[in-house]
Amino acid sequence: MANNFRNGSSHRSSLTKTDRPLSVNSNAKGAVKSKPLPASGLRKSSPASLGSAAAAAAAKDDAGVLGRVRVAVRLRSRNEEEMVADADFADCVELQPELKRLKLRKNNWDTDTYEFDEVLTEFASQKRVYEVVAKPVVESVLDGYNGTIMAYGQTGTGKTYTLGRLGEEDKASRGIMVRAMEDILADVSLETDSLTVSYLQLYMETIQDLLDPSNDNISIVEDPKTGDVSLPGATVVEIRDQQSFMELLRIGEANRFAANTKLNTTSSRSHAILMVHVKRSVEGRDSTHSSENGNVTQMVKTLKPPIVRKGKLVVVDLAGSERIDKSGSEGHTLEEAKSINLSLSALGKCINALAEGSSHVPVRDSKLTRLLRDSFGGTARTSLVVTIGPSPRHRGETASTIMFGQRAMKVENMLKLKEEFDYKSLSRRLDIQLDKLIVENERKQKTFEDEIERITIEAQNRISEAERNYEDALEKERLKYQKDYMESIKKLEEKWIMNQQKQGSERIMAGSKDDSSDVASNGKDSMASVVEELAEVKKLLLKETQSRKAAEGEVNNLKSQVAQWKRSEASGNTEIVKLREMLEDETQQKNKLEGEIAILQSQLLQLSFEADETSKRLDKGGSANGPGSLDSLMTEVRNQQPKDSGNGEKASIAKLFEQVGLHKILSLLEAEDTDVQIHAVKVVANLASEELNQAKIVEAGGLSSLLMLLRTSEDETIHRVAAGAIANLAMNETNQELIMAQGGIRLLSMTAANAEDPQTLRMIAGAIANLCGNDKLQTKLRGEGGIKALLGMVRCGHPDVLAQVARGIANFAKCESRAATQGTKTGKSLLIEDGALSWIVQNANNGASIIRRHIELALCHLAQHEVNAKDMITGGALWELVRISQDCSREDIRTLAHRTLTSSPAFRAEISRLRIER
Ligand code: ADP
Ligand code: MG
Repeated sequence: MANNFRNGSSHRSSLTKTDRPLSVNSNAKGAVKSKPLPASGLRKSSPASLGSAAAAAAAKDDAGVLGRVRVAVRLRSRNEEEMVADADFADCVELQPELKRLKLRKNNWDTDTYEFDEVLTEFASQKRVYEVVAKPVVESVLDGYNGTIMAYGQTGTGKTYTLGRLGEEDKASRGIMVRAMEDILADVSLETDSLTVSYLQLYMETIQDLLDPSNDNISIVEDPKTGDVSLPGATVVEIRDQQSFMELLRIGEANRFAANTKLNTTSSRSHAILMVHVKRSVEGRDSTHSSENGNVTQMVKTLKPPIVRKGKLVVVDLAGSERIDKSGSEGHTLEEAKSINLSLSALGKCINALAEGSSHVPVRDSKLTRLLRDSFGGTARTSLVVTIGPSPRHRGETASTIMFGQRAMKVENMLKLKEEFDYKSLSRRLDIQLDKLIVENERKQKTFEDEIERITIEAQNRISEAERNYEDALEKERLKYQKDYMESIKKLEEKWIMNQQKQGSERIMAGSKDDSSDVASNGKDSMASVVEELAEVKKLLLKETQSRKAAEGEVNNLKSQVAQWKRSEASGNTEIVKLREMLEDETQQKNKLEGEIAILQSQLLQLSFEADETSKRLDKGGSANGPGSLDSLMTEVRNQQPKDSGNGEKASIAKLFEQVGLHKILSLLEAEDTDVQIHAVKVVANLASEELNQAKIVEAGGLSSLLMLLRTSEDETIHRVAAGAIANLAMNETNQELIMAQGGIRLLSMTAANAEDPQTLRMIAGAIANLCGNDKLQTKLRGEGGIKALLGMVRCGHPDVLAQVARGIANFAKCESRAATQGTKTGKSLLIEDGALSWIVQNANNGASIIRRHIELALCHLAQHEVNAKDMITGGALWELVRISQDCSREDIRTLAHRTLTSSPAFRAEISRLRIER
């Protein structure tokens, strides 16, 4: 046995073998996921490193890549006590670092040689130890893998020195924990990534929190699905800088010391475990955001949940590996001695089992092995440093430490990227987007309303001012002309009175003379004065006419002014109309945005379904549905729905669906964009696979929309998914009648005639097969070419399609035979009329049991009726019936076939004619 580990040359060849898979992985799928490594100094590991993280990162693949546990041995120099006590003796080991070999002295003339991944002499610096042992692991963790760094060895050989040294007084002596955190902090971005730490001690199978001493019995929780272990009770501290981490290590160290003093033990008997969780978002930084006036549809198309990578680094400073005296001396009780060794010896047993490829690995034997489940034989990159001292007095312990390291080198891990979709952040992003759009919209609407109000008020003010001015001016003019008129009248009256007086006095004077000639001359005088007066009156009249004309002009002027005001009022109105139109446009825009938001949400819904389906398929290792039955059709669609109530996504999908609403989703079926239609029809198909939703879908007009898609869409995916949904709805009798009434058979037949994809044909055949099982629809279904359509689909030859066709035929035959028994059908089977018999006979012995079974049943049903017998005999169906009655593995079918054969006179006659033995 031991020779296996000593044979250097054979071991070297085994090393080169395990190295190879890490180099390159040409898997194209992996290449899509891998990201370019940043050109930081961190990524350039020294060539002496135990493994290449870059190679592992390039080789990301769901199946993982091989990654053997890497083991380095580190020798401590003689301490003062050894220098004195062992002064006369040589060291028990001799190192050949360049050959990566260690020689262990057996006696003065004989040594054993061992080979390690790295041999670190007493002169190796802490920096070199970090680079060789830890750095590749740290890089893997930053790339999203789990990683383990562990130290094993006798107490006093330098485990804590290697891992836990803070190096505050001498920076060069910083240990692996401190240097690892420096590298991690240099690589992560604290805005987008998260970095947390827990620090624990395992002593006597009890886990204590070194960051909270009162928390002294933490339990391990295992995820039953993934097998991942976690410690939900442990304190988790977010790390933002190196100082806070150093402080944390100091607190942990102080608590470890205090706890051990209380338990009256030393830290060498407990295991210290540091856990660092690094969660990084991969696409978060460059994922799509719509620009300010962004094209939302574009955004919808490129919508993808961001990906997060969760790497976990575990650093384990094991208890001293020396055998503890079972007798209970050295202050140990027997119980304690057993317990202290339990975890370490369980670890040894697990490593032995893994190294030997044993089928049973006793992981559950101790807390340590449960915690390190992923580190040995799991998915983590693991690096072990075994520490030894030079003293010949401890040769035995040193030898067993070396053997432990040798066995650990044979353990193979399968590195796996810890990557998942971050739906929560996608949902947050969408919420923010939605809020922004809503706020923006409300703001615009408010601005428009304000503007309209302002313009309306302004126009009203202008109108009322114009009206006021007009009235004032009118009144002023009226008063002026009234006054002028009154004055003119007054003047005329005065003049008239004066004339009258003048005439009276003249007449008196003339009367006293009483002379006719005088009268004549008097007549002449008065004539002249009348003429004069007339001229006067004429003048006045002229003046009057002129002033009236002036007033008219003034009135016209005012009228035109009013008209002008009216015009300006009208222009104010058109401005309002224009703004109204703009507001309407805005509202339309808003509705469109809301529609797109709904699309966005339905896409998210669909994405969640698909992601869930994918993860489920991955869990199950691919769906293993047999071809044929509608049951498998149903499960297939239904599987796309999250069933696991423990799954947090389900609630959010249900919520989302509630928000979007069935009507909205159905309205998306009529969208112009084919992508949107595809997403919508997938969502509807998913819903239709749940019996609960079916009535709702039909009630909301979903069935008509689905049928309409068959008629109008050119897209094969839409046809396939819509037909699947129709097939599911066609499970129910009422729906079957509705499908028939809406010309469903013709649409399905037409779609089948143009389809190439077997899955589309399977869905259509499934739908028709369901309709075939309805007694009331037989004649109509056949009349509209349903049977011909079924038979037409067998051209594709795919067993899933054939199974549905066979099921349809069996359903049809069963209904026919029922109708014939009840006397409602006479005459030959419509199946035979439509030429189905030859296909039935050809496939009666089909290799796929599900197809065969349906056809056997169909044959039995057909044979029940004497009218079919002649065609069945000439078509060769009798032979198949005879075969079924003898060979069919199902007894009920066998008996049915037998009974049918014996009860039919025509069959009996033919059989006896041919002398077939039965
Ligand atoms: P362990 O944790 O294995 O019990 P320690 O790390 O506590 O051992 O080391 C025991 C003593 O040896 C400490 O005083 C430590 O400083 C010293 N020591 C261990 N390794 C080295 C080394 N490589 N160089 C210098 N001193 C060392
Ligand atoms: Mg120690």
